[in-house]
Amino acid sequence: MANTGEGDQTQVSRHQEVGHKSLLQSDALYQYILETSVYPREPECMKELREVTAKHPWNIMTTSADEGQFLNMLLKLINAKNTMEIGVYTGYSLLATALAIPDDGKILAMDINRENFELGLPSIEKAGVAHKIDFREGPALPVLDQMIEDGKYHGTFDFIFVDADKDNYLNYHKRLIDLVKVGGVIGYDNTLWNGSVVAPPDAPLRKYVRYYRDFVIELNKALAADPRIEICMLPVGDGVTICRRIS
Ligand code: SAM
Ligand code: CA
Repeated sequence: MANTGEGDQTQVSRHQEVGHKSLLQSDALYQYILETSVYPREPECMKELREVTAKHPWNIMTTSADEGQFLNMLLKLINAKNTMEIGVYTGYSLLATALAIPDDGKILAMDINRENFELGLPSIEKAGVAHKIDFREGPALPVLDQMIEDGKYHGTFDFIFVDADKDNYLNYHKRLIDLVKVGGVIGYDNTLWNGSVVAPPDAPLRKYVRYYRDFVIELNKALAADPRIEICMLPVGDGVTICRRIS
C-alpha cells in the first residue's frame, strides 16, 4: 500500500504490515463503512451473536459484520433457497444466510466443532431460523463424497459458502462444482489470506498464515483457470471469491 503522506504515521505503517486485517486504505475508512452502513442495519440477533463471539478466544475466525451484510444481500439477490456452509464456528455467516433465505430454505452446515456452533445457537433460535439449519458435526469432505456418491444431490445447491480448512479448498472445489447448480454460486472465503498472497518470501508471517498461504495461492490460480465458473474476487473481509457455475 502506498504511503500517501496522509494520516498519522503509525496508522500508515500498520497498514503496510502483512497480516493486518483490513485491506482498506485506513482503519477510519473501514470504521466508516461499519458505522454508516453495517451496524445501523445489523439485525439484533446478529449483533448479539457478534458480541457473544467477541468474548471467545478464537474470535479472529468470525466473519466480519460487513461481510455478513454482503452475504445476506447476495443470497437475496440470487434468491437462494438450498444452501451449504463449510466452516460454521459460532455461526455469524450462518445466521446471515439463515435470515436471507425463505422460511422453507435449507442450510447444510458442517463443522468439526459443535461446541462453538452451540455458543451462537441461542441467537439463531431467538431469530426463529434454526429450523432451516441441518448441522453436521465432523469433517466436511466425507459428507461431500457421500453426497456425490448418492447421485441425487448433483446440481441442487443455489449457494455454498466455504470458510474452513484452507488446505482442503481445492478438494472441496472438485466436489462442490458438481453439487452446485448451473447458475448457482460458491463463495470461497479468505482468498487474500491476510494480504500474504503478495508477501515476499522472507516476510515475517505468523506460522499459520505462512502454512496456508501456498494453498490459498494455488486455489486462486485454479479458480482463475477453471472454465466451468465465472469468478469475482472481492476485497471484503479477508477477501472472498464469488464463483458462478456456468457449465
Ligand atoms: N464462517 C464462520 C463464521 O462466520 O464465524 C467462520 C468459520 S472459521 C474461519 C473455520 C471453521 O472451520 C472452524 O470453526 C473449524 O472448526 C472449521 N473446520 C476446520 N476444518 C474443518 C473440516 N475439515 N470440516 C469442517 N469444518 C472444519
Ligand atoms: Ca473466513
